[in-house]
Amino acid sequence: MSHTQSPPDIVEVGARDGLQNEKVLFSTEAKLRLITDAMAAGITRLEVASFVHPGRVPQMADAEAVIAGLPQDADATYIGLVLNKRGYFRAVETRAGGKRGVDEVGCVAIASDTFAEKNQGQTSEESVQISKDIMRLAPKDGLSAQVTISASFGCPFEGDVAMDRVVDMAKSLAEADPREVALADTIGVGAPGHVAELVARVREAVPHIPLRAHFHNTRGTGIANAWTAYMAGVTVLDASIGGLGGCPFAPKATGNIGTEDLVFMLERSGVKTGINLDKLIAMTAWISEHLGRPTPSAVSQAGGFDAAG
Ligand code: MG
Repeated sequence: MSHTQSPPDIVEVGARDGLQNEKVLFSTEAKLRLITDAMAAGITRLEVASFVHPGRVPQMADAEAVIAGLPQDADATYIGLVLNKRGYFRAVETRAGGKRGVDEVGCVAIASDTFAEKNQGQTSEESVQISKDIMRLAPKDGLSAQVTISASFGCPFEGDVAMDRVVDMAKSLAEADPREVALADTIGVGAPGHVAELVARVREAVPHIPLRAHFHNTRGTGIANAWTAYMAGVTVLDASIGGLGGCPFAPKATGNIGTEDLVFMLERSGVKTGINLDKLIAMTAWISEHLGRPTPSAVSQAGGFDAAG
């Protein structure tokens, strides 16, 4: 089997989304190992930290130290998540004094008011405006910027989210010229039919903006959603090593799709990712040891498959 469509880019979100909900604290060194091992496996774009208040997300308290410890000359894109201007200025500060710091900021707009309030103390519309403000500042500070629409497929508090709302948000956010707009299924309630329709509608609304997708496997639909999004024209997919992840402000949210599950699925479909599956699986072994429990992804437990026997 082979596909003529270009392979999707994969963004490793393990050091941010993967760990933010994790009770076992990862030291700065352990986070750096996670990031550098992922790069050694062939991943070139990574969320490395979130600039949130450490009282809100203790696992991210060492964001600046992680970023200061990143390889300075790596041919990779380091993304820092920012939920507001204060976070944005922390991201900019990582570049002070000629340091590399982060290369890109990831903004977060939220499709429902209740989740926007709980996650970042904003209304949905405020989260759009703040993201646009930040994305307009970023190029002046030498940063690229991107935005994720969280709860695109459903809200943990309000239930269904209207596709019209997500489409309108994408149109408004596109005015600030993001590197891409990401559609995130924060709580894992999306299914392929919904994904195909929403991606098609957003593509039609903002045809000039690349689309990215972020899926959680909370209810077993994550990998199917990723394939569906790719077939519908999404060019960038998020994943987390080991399938770690969750959201501290969304009840019952569990892991992202596992990077190794995504790579396995794509490669077995004839899509060349350039990522070394064996190295990813090896990473999950030490992560599992560190956590004291197995990582949730399927491939980290079952292993890869040697087609030659
Ligand atoms: Mg997430």
